[in-house]
Amino acid sequence: MAYKHISIPANGVKISVKNGKLHIPDNPVIGFVEGDGIGPDITRACLRVWDAAVEQAYGGKRKIHWCELFMGEKAAEIYDGDYFPAETLAALKDLIVSIKGPLTTPVGGGFRSLNVALRQELDLYACVRPVRYYTGVPSPLQHPGKVDVVIFRENTEDVYSGIEYAAGTPENEKLARFLREEMGASFFEGSGLGIKPISAFGSKRLIRKAIQYAIDNGRESVALVHKGNIMKFTEGAFRNWGYELAREEFPEQTITETELYSVYGGVQPAGKIVIKDRIADITFQLMQLRPEEFDVLATMNLNGDYLSDAIAAEVGGVGIAPGANIADHVAVFEATHGTAPKYANLDKVNPSSLLLSGVMMLEYMGWKEAADLINAAYPEVIADKTVTYDFARQMAGATEVSTSGFADCLIAKIKTSPAHLVEEEEHRRHILEEERKEREAQRIANPDEAMVISGRIPQTVGAIMHSVIIVDQTEPVNVAMQKMRDRNRHAVLVRPDETDPRWGIMTQGDVVKKIISANRSPTRVQVGEIASRPVVMAPEDTTLLEASQKIVGARIRRLVIEKFGEPVGIISDTDLFRTVEEFGWAHEV
Ligand code: NAP
Repeated sequence: MAYKHISIPANGVKISVKNGKLHIPDNPVIGFVEGDGIGPDITRACLRVWDAAVEQAYGGKRKIHWCELFMGEKAAEIYDGDYFPAETLAALKDLIVSIKGPLTTPVGGGFRSLNVALRQELDLYACVRPVRYYTGVPSPLQHPGKVDVVIFRENTEDVYSGIEYAAGTPENEKLARFLREEMGASFFEGSGLGIKPISAFGSKRLIRKAIQYAIDNGRESVALVHKGNIMKFTEGAFRNWGYELAREEFPEQTITETELYSVYGGVQPAGKIVIKDRIADITFQLMQLRPEEFDVLATMNLNGDYLSDAIAAEVGGVGIAPGANIADHVAVFEATHGTAPKYANLDKVNPSSLLLSGVMMLEYMGWKEAADLINAAYPEVIADKTVTYDFARQMAGATEVSTSGFADCLIAKIKTSPAHLVEEEEHRRHILEEERKEREAQRIANPDEAMVISGRIPQTVGAIMHSVIIVDQTEPVNVAMQKMRDRNRHAVLVRPDETDPRWGIMTQGDVVKKIISANRSPTRVQVGEIASRPVVMAPEDTTLLEASQKIVGARIRRLVIEKFGEPVGIISDTDLFRTVEEFGWAHEV
């Protein structure tokens, strides 16, 4: 397409999508919008740092060809009052990867926020926020270095869909009447009403992106954050669709947290991402107490909104947090703060948010080496205490530098000690890996305790089952007794054979009743003879309520957990009691 005011750099090549994957040439054209207020100051500084890192990492073999696109006040000047010109939208799609500074939201006149318009026009459904700590940045946490997460927040639905009816309006009254009279709902008179749509489509495309990111970047886990214990058909459905998607689309690359314990004994198999879920309020708590439990988080819109700012505040505040809004491929990276108009053109503010958004962009392009150089140079500059005014006022003995001065310090580090910077970044990854191993050792040594401290709340029998001992019908009872004692189990399962094609179970109670009290010798009796049959089985996703009802209904003490008809675990009434005593019980409606 021929652009009127946008000129595509002649020597650059556009990024393309081939077979569903981004194809990044060595000389890609990347769009940038400098933004309003402080936007030009920070953009000018960041472009120099990104270019220096790419030059240093690839020795000239790779180079970004920047293409200026116009939005906001600058666009209004060039395009006769149009703040978001059609050709800017076309170019953002055409170039696929872009980065932007903050934009003023024009007040009044029926303007919608330019950022909202951008998200809607490009269907940028995933708001991605990596939050990690850089040594030296002021933080309220004792161990901020343990924070290293990436939040994928759904950007298009949930209570932000705009389906709201103010109290007292005819629309509100119509809906209230329908809900009361036709749906049997009850709520206070004069309530404002809002709808919370959560779809399988919207949830799955977001969670797919989070899982793919975890796979591409060697991450440990994806946590589905929700309040499904209260809102079963919206937040609970998000959780269920997440597990379903992982099972259907990533069966080779993912395991569930339940399988981590029940099948793998707490040892995470190499190359497999653990899919887990956490209640939203527990996630908020744990992100302060044990942030290392989290890696990639997938959230709905509202939870993600709160969570991304809360987590960012732990490691230096939203002022330095990078972000991006991403569609299937088109991605717009952006500073998360506003235009801070009082500082415009003073060359004063902190360029970190935009700078680190650019690091995220380099990672998105697969240019990890350039991203690493900035990631490692950044804490070194902070450690030298050469910082912009906002950090300087929080750090004793700091030297305040300008926006461009801060960029100069970074570039100097990148150019003078690249080998050292690469080592630093590798060292940081090594420490995180060591910590991961420690958590694994704890899961193996004490799975129950690991479950509690990691915020995992068991909701299905799969989450609390024990492994089973399986024996043949012909095995002497004394041998089976020995196995039970060695592994501290109260029962063994008995394999079907031609004499009896049903699974059986022999418990300690059976031994007392049918051997000891009958005065028989355990060495002379075979397990098959005293086992009880048939065993009652239930699948792994049976809820604790359903399991209890099954146990009571069948007048048994133990439920065998099956997968594809084969037993994979066992739970007892004692396990149900202990779980409820430990984690609480909210009756299900
Ligand atoms: P803001 O521009 O983010 O500024 C609020 C305060 O945050 C500033 O006064 C400053 O604090 C601090 N701050 C922001 N960016 C900083 C930086 N780079 N370095 C150091 N300190 C920084 O928020 P606002 O005043 O509410 O919004 C101003 C305009 O920006 C509005 O038109 C709003 O709609 C727009 N906005 C745009 C975006 C976006 O485009 N993504 C996002 C949010 C807001 P001190 O005064 O303490 O120094």
